[in-house]
Amino acid sequence: MSAHATFALRATIAPMSSLRVLIPAEKIQARIQEMGAQIAREHPSGPLYLIAILKGACIFLSDLARAIPGTPVRMEFIGISSYGKGKSTWGEVKLTKDLDVSVEGFDVIVVEDIVDSGITLSYLLQVFRQRKPRSLKIATLLDKPERRQRPVKVDYVGFQIPDEFVVGYGLDYAEDYRNLKDVCVLSE
Ligand code: 5GP
Repeated sequence: MSAHATFALRATIAPMSSLRVLIPAEKIQARIQEMGAQIAREHPSGPLYLIAILKGACIFLSDLARAIPGTPVRMEFIGISSYGKGKSTWGEVKLTKDLDVSVEGFDVIVVEDIVDSGITLSYLLQVFRQRKPRSLKIATLLDKPERRQRPVKVDYVGFQIPDEFVVGYGLDYAEDYRNLKDVCVLSE
């Protein structure tokens, strides 16, 4: 475990919980550079809209945007509610903050922290298709394919991970741990 993760463990969680580093910060950063280079190759002209789903995808978005050299990138944010404060999904998704601009005619990549059941993204894809972008793709840092309930085509995947609850690098548990540099498994 990194020093950062150890500090957060002491500072913020109940004594019975534990954190184990699953993907260290250096590996995350290296993979994001590869993803950014691929996105830049496939979108040389731009402007390219990166749309992050609040709040978990913000840290990934900020690193991914800086890993896309040469292509003019614009950043947008949307808010949804689905997971609440625990570890289980409610199975329904609601838009809580919409885009500030029209993306009609533009290339769009929806940036997600993790794809689990696929419920969130299948809902969002429906929403975004109605906005008539020129192209619509998905980039996720993490993917748990075993948990899929709705089929979703994910165009850019950072890491496939097993069915474990993870925190860090933007991902939370009851709003804690988002600032960890590593992706860690949280267990009780
Ligand atoms: P889906 O709709 O695909 O089931 O869920 C996507 C959302 O669920 C993610 O954006 C994230 O908020 C949450 N989620 C799914 N798995 C995990 C996990 O292992 N850790 C955390 N912190 N959130 C998760």
